[in-house]
Amino acid sequence: MFKWGLLFLGLGLAYWWFIAKKKNKNRAADNQIKQTEPTTAKPQQMVSCAYCDLHLPQNDALAQDGRYYCCAEHRDSISQKGWWGKAQWRASTNFDERPEGIAVDLAVIHHISLPPGQFGGHHIIDFFQNNLDPTAHPYFEQIANQKVSSHFLIDRNGKTTQFISLHKRAWHAGISQFFGREKCNDFSIGIELEGDGDVFFTNEQYASLAEMIGVLLKKFPDLRFAGHSDIAPERKTDPGPSFDWARLTKIAKLSEERLPFGSSSR
Ligand SMILES: [Zn+2]
Ligand SMILES: [Zn+2]
Repeated sequence: MFKWGLLFLGLGLAYWWFIAKKKNKNRAADNQIKQTEPTTAKPQQMVSCAYCDLHLPQNDALAQDGRYYCCAEHRDSISQKGWWGKAQWRASTNFDERPEGIAVDLAVIHHISLPPGQFGGHHIIDFFQNNLDPTAHPYFEQIANQKVSSHFLIDRNGKTTQFISLHKRAWHAGISQFFGREKCNDFSIGIELEGDGDVFFTNEQYASLAEMIGVLLKKFPDLRFAGHSDIAPERKTDPGPSFDWARLTKIAKLSEERLPFGSSSR
């Protein structure tokens, strides 16, 4: 009888030990689940469309260079304030007001490379933002204090940067004349292509330029196109003979009237 008692006691202890262990295990598992649970309780970050100011959850917005858009159409358009959503924005202080009531009806094509003949890097952006390091290259010493700008730059990869609102006057043309009208900065948009006048421009640059022209024409329907050398022939040679005007005419579907200096390379 005593033996049976011991046996039951033993079984009872074993059972108690087994249950206690199982409980501990469950508790540990519960804790683990709690720890790994995603923190969905956090409120959704809201952003506003840089084109129309619509507020929307960040997850539903299109991100572009640190900005947000409610839809592709708004991202790809020029805003009321004169900024193209598709470009990266690197604001420059080298601008002033256009004369009151003036219509923007000219786009001036330029080329630039810094240092001259070298492509890539951030020197052009630095230059237009007055951040060029004069010690980085001997040539930079001469130009670091110049205050110039352009509305747009298209680099060798076709990447487009905007520096100045299209409603403001950028400082790209200098002393210039377009069929008797002086001071072309007043009524023009400046477009710089990264290039040196010798090497051909890239396919990506032509594609980006044509896309940009399509967008610009919606906002500025009277736009005509000229090279810097066309409006300042004594001083300037850009974009130069390596720029293929005929190719641009074709891919941007430009009519002859939009090219008063013709479509042959010059
Ligand atoms: Zn929008
Ligand atoms: Zn130029």
